Amino acid sequence: MLQQTQVSRVIDYYHRFLTRFPSLAQLAESPAGHVMEAWSGLGYYARARNLHVLARTVIRDGGGVLPADPLALRALPGVGAYTAGAVASFAFEARAGLVDTNVARVLARVFAPRLKPKQPRDLTQLWRIAEAVLPPRGNVAWTHNQALMELGALVCTARVRHCTRCPVRALCRTRIAELAARDSAR
Ligand code: SF4
Repeated sequence: MLQQTQVSRVIDYYHRFLTRFPSLAQLAESPAGHVMEAWSGLGYYARARNLHVLARTVIRDGGGVLPADPLALRALPGVGAYTAGAVASFAFEARAGLVDTNVARVLARVFAPRLKPKQPRDLTQLWRIAEAVLPPRGNVAWTHNQALMELGALVCTARVRHCTRCPVRALCRTRIAELAARDSAR
């Protein structure tokens, strides 16, 4: 539901949906029309269709258990790289990287200011960086991923950078380059 949609818009749908379909099995058994009806008004209806097919696939082929491995998750309908990483990390505490718009921006600013997150080749490199800086233990990676997302949402946003109160300012290449440029201009 959160793909391309904000939490504030999703939250009521989310609770109603879970009340109506409290398990993957119940979702899988439900007619497609009922699933679409519960999704009605939320938009991007391919997500509902994919989620329904996903539930049926997991019940039929996966013994009813959603996989924790990001590669296995990616093989399911409607699950892209970010969703697979987020589910693996946040639901299962697997050691999995994830890069959404906010995380891509933060990683680029901190580690590789020349990379442009909107360019596919650069985004691939940012995924590599996300994997490279991931802590070794899954539960710590969970915290790390949450922190990166919060940093992008609250401190290092698309519109403003709060560098003076940023917890990673000492190692941020964007910040270091700006301070060096300021010093040399004096
Ligand atoms: S120091 Fe500034 S540019 Fe670097 S991550 Fe923090 S807010 Fe973003």
